[in-house]
Amino acid sequence: MAEFLSPRASRIEASPASVLRRRARELRAAGRDVIELSSGDLDFPTPEHVTAAAHRAAQRGETRYTNVDGTPELKDAVRETFRQNGLAYARNEIIICNGSTQALANAFLATLRDGDEVIVPAPYWAPYLAQTRLADGTPVPVPCPQNNGFKLNAEDLRAAITAQTRWVVINNPVNPSGAVYTSAELSAIAAVLKDHPDIWVLADGLYERIVFNGCSAPTIAAVEPRLKERTLTVSGVAKTYAMMGWRVGYAGGPAPLIDAMTNIQSQTTSGASSISQAAALAALTGPQDLIAERAAILARRRDTFIASLNRCPGLSCPYPDGTFYALVSCAGLIGAKTPVGSRIETDRDVAAYLLEAVDVAVVAGADCGVSPHVRASFALPAERLAEAAARIERACVALNGG
Ligand code: PMP
Repeated sequence: MAEFLSPRASRIEASPASVLRRRARELRAAGRDVIELSSGDLDFPTPEHVTAAAHRAAQRGETRYTNVDGTPELKDAVRETFRQNGLAYARNEIIICNGSTQALANAFLATLRDGDEVIVPAPYWAPYLAQTRLADGTPVPVPCPQNNGFKLNAEDLRAAITAQTRWVVINNPVNPSGAVYTSAELSAIAAVLKDHPDIWVLADGLYERIVFNGCSAPTIAAVEPRLKERTLTVSGVAKTYAMMGWRVGYAGGPAPLIDAMTNIQSQTTSGASSISQAAALAALTGPQDLIAERAAILARRRDTFIASLNRCPGLSCPYPDGTFYALVSCAGLIGAKTPVGSRIETDRDVAAYLLEAVDVAVVAGADCGVSPHVRASFALPAERLAEAAARIERACVALNGG
């Protein structure tokens, strides 16, 4: 069997998130009350009017293939959403995909040659690396330390650029740190790219509406319009409208790139589901009040949850400006002994210990390019978060030397 699988398949592995999800479900099936702080799902339901629009679309018979690049109605709604972010795209500069995941994959498949490099600021969302490898490229993670707010700075970007660099990924807000780039920070990045006219920017704004305390998450092509002709701006409905499972994402960019991405999509998936596109249309064009209301709920959970984590011996965690993730340093736990006598050496050991000892699932920082840290979601009801924090504290206290 091994020889039947392609070298391409062996270049990547199952996403860490899917492995954790499976392990947490196994434990739950065995009767344990696992709290999943590892997921990228929000606990909020998809808004009622969105679900209703999907029902109506199905009943109206919107059950056929749509255009590969999406329905004209949804593309227009996406254009309007981009316009509100300061970006004007024509219809042929927009593609609707099966989640923003597919938009990113299309883009890398459409542009990378063997050995081409993609600069990915670390910490990162791991699929940027895997997708680059799938498309024969080489990911180049650039460490962005906590003292720079986990954000890419201009000098580090300049130093990472080579003759092979094709793309720079700018995710704003950042999964997993929750960092939010300001316009000034994006301008500094754009200034470096001015000297490198062949490098493109992949701007992933999936969490752009999940920001706290009056923060906003600008998008780089709006901040520096001269970059727009070599930027692919990606976003989706998953996080803004709690529509993770509907699988609708989108991208705006120069028409030749969008055409190439559409051809790839046409031969791989034929595009996003018709029903989901009707739902996404209702989400983008319907009432928007829920977004701010939910962000305010997440901000309150953030404050309480992170304050509790910071009381745990060995842990420390800054307050993120966006997303729903806490990126927790567990440096103070490294070297400690667990009650069963094993030694904690890495953040993967921390994640394994929390799952096995107190039934709390978190993502190891090693899987997001930032160690020793763990990523914990706070998109759970407040009572569950309080219970999770109490369990984590118990686990930290039980460590000898922790
Ligand atoms: N970008 C980032 C930064 C993400 O965290 C995720 C999902 N968690 C995605 C893209 C993909 O999301 P989707 O395919 O659901 O739109």
